[in-house]
Amino acid sequence: MQIVVYGAGYVGLVAAACLAEAGNSVTSVDLDKDRVAALRAGRVPFVEPGLETLVTNGIASGRLEFSSNPEEAAGRGTIQMLAVGTPAAFDGSTDESQLMAAAHAIGRGATGSVIVVLKSTAPVGAAERVIDEVRHEFSVRDVDFTAEVVVNPEFLRAGSSVRDFLEPDRVIVGGESQSAIATVASIYSAFTSADRILTMDLASAALVKYASNAMLATRISFMNELANLAEVVGADIAEVQRGIGADPRIGSSYLQPGMGYGGSCLPKDVASLIAVGEVAGATMGVIRAAAEANSLQAHRLTEKLERHLGDLAGRSIAVWGLAFKGGTDDLRDSPSHTLIADLVDAGAVVRAYDPAAGESARRHYADEGDVEIVSSLLETLDGADALAITADWPEFRSVQLAVIASALKERIVVDGRNLFSPMDAAAAGLTYSAIGRGDN
Ligand code: NAD
Repeated sequence: MQIVVYGAGYVGLVAAACLAEAGNSVTSVDLDKDRVAALRAGRVPFVEPGLETLVTNGIASGRLEFSSNPEEAAGRGTIQMLAVGTPAAFDGSTDESQLMAAAHAIGRGATGSVIVVLKSTAPVGAAERVIDEVRHEFSVRDVDFTAEVVVNPEFLRAGSSVRDFLEPDRVIVGGESQSAIATVASIYSAFTSADRILTMDLASAALVKYASNAMLATRISFMNELANLAEVVGADIAEVQRGIGADPRIGSSYLQPGMGYGGSCLPKDVASLIAVGEVAGATMGVIRAAAEANSLQAHRLTEKLERHLGDLAGRSIAVWGLAFKGGTDDLRDSPSHTLIADLVDAGAVVRAYDPAAGESARRHYADEGDVEIVSSLLETLDGADALAITADWPEFRSVQLAVIASALKERIVVDGRNLFSPMDAAAAGLTYSAIGRGDN
């Protein structure tokens, strides 16, 4: 199949590389010329395990090409897949401008009938707006091409995107035309069995994506609230998690308490669902509460540091983790930013490290004199009063607690990811405060 993928970000590039690997001829288009130049040379501009190999293979096989000209690229495929950004607008609703720009380019540049596949996360109604734009441009050009739209949301997780795309749990294909649905479903038959390809109408397919992310966000906020309660009543959230996770009606995933959800998807998708509910006159009370709990959770480590250190002015705090979780360099909506902003506001200085996000974090904090991004874990501890852990990298767990204890002036560790055993930490002489596991 000839496929054009708009947007060579986390979703679009993974989709393009995996679709090329499966034997399709794929053009990956991005407006960012530097990104396209790097990709043509086989360099992936972000961290995603396995992706660079797939990109290199795709280029070598001739099945994966790159373009920075959407209108010209539109002529290269019958399947036009949109994986551009859909950021939150100022009021939490979804900014669809990148989608509409890509739709415009398809309408102007396509050289035959097309199926537009909406892979970006976009609210109910966006698919209709996108296809109206394509059809409008076809009518302006006075061509008799047809344009169908299919909603095919992406569920991949940063850090395991390639595997998630190649071995999906389920694929959602929503549309109005059965033939368009069948065509798009056939593309995914290379990756999964027919029973895992769920077909439905456009609106339901769009809502599946938001419902999935809202459910995950709610689970995370629920566990974070329970963890906060566990701390006060002397329970251990890890035991509570083990107990409820053993119930098959609940299941054991997404029960890990922490600093709250972040990243490029959950916060904006939750905000978008709330905004859609507002317009539709639906209260969305549960998901509003989940968002509210999440915004408080990101400040938990600051509160813990203040409890143990008192006034933070003049203190030096080591921070491990800058991206929103381990395994990725994605800094978007990272709880670590909230912590660092709190610390700087309180007059502390920060020395931070992230195994993957160091370079982008250096650019992010370039104007912030009180934040230094260093190149190794142990460098952060140099002269630090306390350590705050915000991400779950295996590298963090491998450091011996005794090493941390001997390096920190005040021997205080606040751990937003529960990486260590409180007993081991106490044995190493640390004051260790994790999430929901007592507060020594
Ligand atoms: P991203 O910001 O990493 O990439 C988007 C890319 O689109 C950018 O490189 C940008 O230059 C490019 N672009 C913008 N307008 C364009 C146009 N008109 N033509 C061609 N390229 C254009 O975004 P992402 O994280 O890959 O997310 C893309 C979509 O997928 C979003 O809707 C997001 O909500 C959704 N999604 C993301 C994830 C994730 O983990 N990142 C997971 C599932 C779904």
